[in-house]
Amino acid sequence: MRKLNPGDKLVLATHNAGKYRENADLLAPYGLEVLSAGDLGLPEPEETGSTYSENAVLKAKAACEATGLAAIADDSGLDVPALGGKPGIHTARWAGPERDFKLAMEKVHRELGEATDRRGFFVCNLSVVWPDGETASFEGRMEGSLVWPPRGDIGFGFDPMFQPKGYDLTFAEMDPAKKHAISHRALAFAQLKKALLEAA
Ligand code: IMP
Repeated sequence: MRKLNPGDKLVLATHNAGKYRENADLLAPYGLEVLSAGDLGLPEPEETGSTYSENAVLKAKAACEATGLAAIADDSGLDVPALGGKPGIHTARWAGPERDFKLAMEKVHRELGEATDRRGFFVCNLSVVWPDGETASFEGRMEGSLVWPPRGDIGFGFDPMFQPKGYDLTFAEMDPAKKHAISHRALAFAQLKKALLEAA
């Protein structure tokens, strides 16, 4: 598989500021020039895939075709076993057109009701698409407990109600550097790093 090398220009195919920040931070040490699809005014393709990886590839492909540059996309979400895996790939939609995550967290809490299984799994798929069509996908999954009421105001999305397994703090109470070291995004990134950023 080809590598990403220092100086390479790469589009980060997301319009989500939280995801952009976290992925840009993870990529920062590698000397890549990282542009944001949001800043470039690229349209957001409809997420019509049925898996995280299909949606990530679809987003990266759209950004790659629009710019002629290699593109990386992050498709992520929250799988809740007690809700049959919902909201899953539709996680962003649970926040509605206003992207109101307070509302989305309330919905998860309401649907959980008295369920004894309070586990949630954050999943992150990072996919890279190059202009010649080559594609690479990496996925990370992180277990946590869904707490109520939400706690903390760092991070984004469902962070305030997600307490990663083995920790007393929610992601929204945690130092960002700590979240970056252990999250689903970090787990996906570790695989990407091994395959695409480290010398063979
Ligand atoms: P999509 O990948 O654009 O479909 O959106 C994924 C959604 O999952 C985001 O809008 C967030 O609500 C949620 N999500 C993904 N990663 C995280 C995270 O690290 N913290 C909190 N919420 C997340």
